[in-house]
Amino acid sequence: MEKNKKKSDFLHIGNKLLKWYDKNARDLPFRNTKDPYKIWICEIVFQQTRIAQGLNHYNNFIKRFPDVQTLASAEEDEVLLYWKGLGYYSRAINIHKASQQIINDYNGIFPSEYEEILKLKGVGKYTAAAVSSICFNGKMPAVDGNFYRVLSRIFADDFDVSNSRAFNYFSQLAHLIMPENVGDFNQAMMDLGSEICKPRNPLCGECPLNIDCLAFSLNKISEFPVKTKKVKATDLELKYYFVHRNGEFLIRQRKDDFIWKKLFEFPLEISDELIPFIKSVKNVHHKLTHKNLSIEIFNVEVYSEEAWKAFIDENDYIITNVENSHEKSFPKPLENYIQKYDVSYKFL
Ligand code: SF4
Repeated sequence: MEKNKKKSDFLHIGNKLLKWYDKNARDLPFRNTKDPYKIWICEIVFQQTRIAQGLNHYNNFIKRFPDVQTLASAEEDEVLLYWKGLGYYSRAINIHKASQQIINDYNGIFPSEYEEILKLKGVGKYTAAAVSSICFNGKMPAVDGNFYRVLSRIFADDFDVSNSRAFNYFSQLAHLIMPENVGDFNQAMMDLGSEICKPRNPLCGECPLNIDCLAFSLNKISEFPVKTKKVKATDLELKYYFVHRNGEFLIRQRKDDFIWKKLFEFPLEISDELIPFIKSVKNVHHKLTHKNLSIEIFNVEVYSEEAWKAFIDENDYIITNVENSHEKSFPKPLENYIQKYDVSYKFL
C-alpha cells in the first residue's frame, strides 16, 4: 500500500456502500436485533456455513438457547446435538465454554469492549470486531475473506491474501474507506462480498462501487485477490467397526484433541473373538478442511450372545439403536452409515 493514501480520498467509497446497504440489506433474522448474544452466535454459525444452509440451524439453536444463561447451564452434549448438521463441532464446544466464561467472568453480561470480547473462547478478531461494532458502536473493521476480496479489487492491490500479515494489511485498507457507522459498514461489506462481489463472476454491473473500483476499470478483476499459498490437505486412514446385534450397536464419545472431539463414534478396534463376525466392509472418502479421510467401516454382526457380552464387559461402550442414536452427534460419514442401518438389523 502506498504510504500517501489518504482517508479523505477514499471515504466516499464507504459512504456509497452504506447508501447501497440502506436499500439492499438482506432481510435476515439477526438483522433485527442488537443483542450481542444473538449476533455472536450468528457470526460463529455463518463463519463456515452459507446463510441459506445454516438459517434453520441458527433459528433452532436460538429457540432452544435464547440467552447466555440458558446456554451456559445446558449439557455440552445437548449443545452439540443442536449443532448437528453445521459441522466444525469445535465451534459448538467453544460457544458453550464462552457462555460459561460470560457467566463467571462478566456476571452474565456480554462484554462490550472489543478487547474483552476477544478473550472469549473461540472468538477471533473478526467476530470480536463484528459483535462490538454491530452491538456497541465499536470501531474495528470485521476483516475476513470478503474484505480481502472486495478491497484487493477496489484498490487493484496485489498483496498476497495468504501472507501472514494480510489481516493487518487489509485492516489498514479498510480504515481508508470506513465511515463512522462501522456496524453497518461491516454488514454492508459482508452483503456486498456475498451477493455482488462474489469470488467468481462478480456482478460488477450492479455494484455500487464500480466507478471507484480500479480492478473493474482496468478490466483485471480475475487477477484479484492474489493468493499464492495453498494449504495442502493431508491423507488420513481410519478404521471403524460397526459392532451390532439384534438392532443394537456400540458407540463411544471421542475424548482426544484430534478431529471430531466430543462426537460419538464406533469402536476403533475389536477383540480377536469378534473377527469371525465381520460380514462386509464399506470404504468411505470424506474431506475435511485440511484432511482427506479414507475410512473403512467394518460391519460386525455378532451372532453369539456370549461374544457380544464379553466384548461389552471389557470395554466402556454405550449400547444404542437407530432411534436413540438420533439424540447424539456423530461425524457425518458415521451418521450416514447409521442411516442405512434398518431397524430390522439389515443394511438397506
Ligand atoms: S466493481 Fe466488481 S470487482 Fe469491483 S467491487 Fe464491484 S463487484 Fe467487486
